[in-house]
Amino acid sequence: MDCLFCKIIAGEIPSTKVYEDEYVYSFKDIAPIAPVHNLIIPKQHICCANGVDESNSAVVGKVFEAAAKIAKAEGMESYRIINNCGEDAGQTVFHLHFHMVGGVKMGWGPESLGKTE
Ligand code: AMP
Ligand code: ZN
Repeated sequence: MDCLFCKIIAGEIPSTKVYEDEYVYSFKDIAPIAPVHNLIIPKQHICCANGVDESNSAVVGKVFEAAAKIAKAEGMESYRIINNCGEDAGQTVFHLHFHMVGGVKMGWGPESLGKTE
């Protein structure tokens, strides 16, 4: 399958691994937007949040189990987990992934959605 993240999981494209288990792979984002910016992905190819259904939703739980372990290992108590679903939300790689960003105090409000008025 011609999927960037499937190739990263297979080791065909290099990545800086943060965590791996049977179901989940995590690596550093190549263009970090915060001091900590990890991507956490299920090994199973799922296009996006819209592709989650009763047959595969268990891996989403595995992603969040991994996230808690990764945060602990990085000594990070506060962080944000972001999923962009669809082009208008900014999704560019269509293999379900969760951005884990932290290491900085973050604001929350309309500005964080690019809203200026
Ligand atoms: P999204 O825009 O939510 O689809 O997120 C895709 C993310 O993948 C972006 O933050 C990119 O910086 C990141 N990315 C793209 N290619 C690579 C790569 N080869 N290694 C690590 N991260 C990547
Ligand atoms: Zn994939």
